[in-house]
Amino acid sequence: MAVKQIVPNVYTIPLGMVNAFLIDGGELTLIDTGVPGSADKILQAVAELGRQPADIRHILLTHCHADHTGSLAVLKAQTGAPATMHPLDAAMVQKGESMRPAKPAPKLLFKLLVPLLMRAGSSSIQPAEIEYQVEDGAEFDFAGGLKAIHVPGHCAGQLAFLWPQHGGVLFAADTAGNRSGLDWSIIYEDLEEGKRSLAKLAALDFEVACFGHGKAIIGGAAERFRQKWGT
Ligand SMILES: [Zn+2]
Ligand SMILES: [Zn+2]
Repeated sequence: MAVKQIVPNVYTIPLGMVNAFLIDGGELTLIDTGVPGSADKILQAVAELGRQPADIRHILLTHCHADHTGSLAVLKAQTGAPATMHPLDAAMVQKGESMRPAKPAPKLLFKLLVPLLMRAGSSSIQPAEIEYQVEDGAEFDFAGGLKAIHVPGHCAGQLAFLWPQHGGVLFAADTAGNRSGLDWSIIYEDLEEGKRSLAKLAALDFEVACFGHGKAIIGGAAERFRQKWGT
């Protein structure tokens, strides 16, 4: 199966090292697009839900890194859906750029992983037009009322998305990861900014958290954020 339900109407599409997500609100909303070459897998996931590529009506991008925007141009062409992103990262993607300089989080293992990550995240992407550029607090009237939260640090134009249903589902992007437990992201453009963003998320209410990297937390997710990053 290319698709896995997290809660009713929210699905994860595992794409190797990174996840994309689908929200079914009648029309489909896709969050992130995986590394370059992931479009077929994403459309296979759509087919498994009994839907067509054109049922994807919105593509939201959490940030510009190539493991999240790599298949955007192809998916836009195949679905006709407009793309939505924060202006700071939209400017990058429209030029085909996917990474600013970043440093590892202060953990030895992460330092070892960085060369690998920088290569994955900075691989070249096909430029794509971003139709909607949204700032902190933007609310969408599709997918049951998603809200955008600007969470810079890992990436200057990074957005998390909060879905108010099922006690709150947070799409945390790469603010943090949950590979072998909830933890820092591997790299940050600005770690202090990243800490402030995590504290901002920790103050919200959500039962479920979904990550670009690692497994979703189902139940008590905000409490886990507060224990680690609350102020
Ligand atoms: Zn990233
Ligand atoms: Zn990532």
